[in-house]
Amino acid sequence: MTEPLDTLAAHAHGIRVAVVGGGIGGMVAALEFAKVGMTVTLFEATERLGGVLRAADVAGLRLDVGAESFATRGGHVRRFLDELGLSDAIVRPTGGGAWVAGVPGVGAAPLPRGGVLGIPENPWDPAVRRILGWGGAWRAYLDRLRPPLTIGHDRSLGHLVRSRMGDKVLDRLVAPVTAGVYSSRPDDIDVDAAAPGLNAALTRTGSLSGAVGQLRAGRAAVPGSAVEGLEGGMTRLVDALAARLGEFGVDVRLNSPVDRLQRGRAGWDVHAVAPPAEIEADGPSDQSTTVDVVVVATTEAAARRLLSPVVPGLAPAAGTAPVVEIVTLVVEAPELDAAPRGTGVLTVPHAYPAKALTHSTAKWSWVAAAAGAGIHALRVSFGAQGEEPATASLSDEDAAVLALAQASALLGVPLERSQLRGAHRERFVQSQPASVRGRAAAAAADRAAVRAVPGLVAVGAWLSGTGLAQVIPDAVDETVAARRAALWDGSGDA
Ligand SMILES: Cc1cc2nc3c(=O)[nH]c(=O)nc-3n(C[C@H](O)[C@H](O)[C@H](O)COP(=O)(O)OP(=O)(O)OC[C@H]3O[C@@H](n4cnc5c(N)ncnc54)[C@H](O)[C@@H]3O)c2cc1C
Repeated sequence: MTEPLDTLAAHAHGIRVAVVGGGIGGMVAALEFAKVGMTVTLFEATERLGGVLRAADVAGLRLDVGAESFATRGGHVRRFLDELGLSDAIVRPTGGGAWVAGVPGVGAAPLPRGGVLGIPENPWDPAVRRILGWGGAWRAYLDRLRPPLTIGHDRSLGHLVRSRMGDKVLDRLVAPVTAGVYSSRPDDIDVDAAAPGLNAALTRTGSLSGAVGQLRAGRAAVPGSAVEGLEGGMTRLVDALAARLGEFGVDVRLNSPVDRLQRGRAGWDVHAVAPPAEIEADGPSDQSTTVDVVVVATTEAAARRLLSPVVPGLAPAAGTAPVVEIVTLVVEAPELDAAPRGTGVLTVPHAYPAKALTHSTAKWSWVAAAAGAGIHALRVSFGAQGEEPATASLSDEDAAVLALAQASALLGVPLERSQLRGAHRERFVQSQPASVRGRAAAAAADRAAVRAVPGLVAVGAWLSGTGLAQVIPDAVDETVAARRAALWDGSGDA
């Protein structure tokens, strides 16, 4: 027999949900629970929602200083933006292509088009040969002559590329891409996760370059072009989500880090440290809220701290998370109007202190329009897996000076301090991407351990893999399953 609607609504309203962490994963989860009428409280440690989606005013320009785009893969993010009424704000990058800098004996050169993770389809393509040199191109061509791997297949991207095409392809083309995109070394990247189908295509075609050609069929031609952004910046997504949470009556508590979860008689006790103003007014700083379902949507380290006392078998953190610093610069430099390095520059590892540069005014028309002619926004990023950002111990001022010098070197244009209009530095601890070897299996085991505990849900990049195209659909799926369990099985009741 079906329950009458008003009984169902009352039942839903009676289900109390706490979401811990107000990044994109937590906001999506809060919305999914609130949509069906559940009573949702969202605890965010800092003074603002959005997590890695952050904006700052730099020299009068409102710029993304964290995530700045989303992968179009699967259409997940677009569908979500449609739902929030942001379809008209979706924009594509200009498609200018990226460069690679620090190539021995060459310096900077356009990143060849038509590769997969930097692996070229044709080693004799002039753009590829320019970076590899004749010797490197010949070595890469050996891939066509050597027999394909016959036993099993190669999981390590670094090993696969090195053995088939040689060190130059690995160091000059593939490593800059994996460092820039995944903050990881090629040896740590799982081929099957980063380029699904590549190993199978290698077996079919008999060579790695042939496999790249087969995978490329039907894909966009410019590296990095399969992304989109939002006019006005990705934090518009945060603003729209926050407004939607407000419409659904979600109780958003900022400056409220949760430091403990405990299974009580009436449900889960969520212990949050109250904001300073409330501490003064009410006395005790630790506030406890009792709920039926808890969603942990924090960064990995905080999630493990909160979950390990209540989730049997949750493994300790594997490996160290890459720390990245991004210095956003606004400069007055008319010579950059011509976009001398396209939309940005990746670097050969260890050639520069900086890992990559995005020329935002060349990449996004809306940023260029907001800046006006002769004014440019540049994002210089530092740090990668196992490599402290070169800016880590510097003051903001010194970090800006280093970033400016790096921008000058990477763009091949002199940039003086007098041209600097403003700078902003932001530090991030990244989750390891799902394509790091062993990561997907570890995340699956963690997830299974959390799912085994009734009324507990975990979402976010450390489980889904980094990137909005991973975090958003994963948070929806996990939440919908937990919502169903709470509504229909009563398994949300602790
Ligand atoms: C520099 C950088 C650039 C990126 N660029 C892109 C991009 O262009 N495109 C893309 O698709 N992806 C990008 N990513 C990846 C993507 O942004 C992330 O995978 C995604 O935003 C992570 O969302 P999340 O909700 O899992 O975590 P987060 O955004 O990290 O949110 C976690 C939240 O939990 C809060 N929190 C932590 N501890 C507690 C606690 N104890 N109590 C309460 N709250 C707590 C934090 O303050 C934070 O707000 C980028 C990542 C980085 C670091």
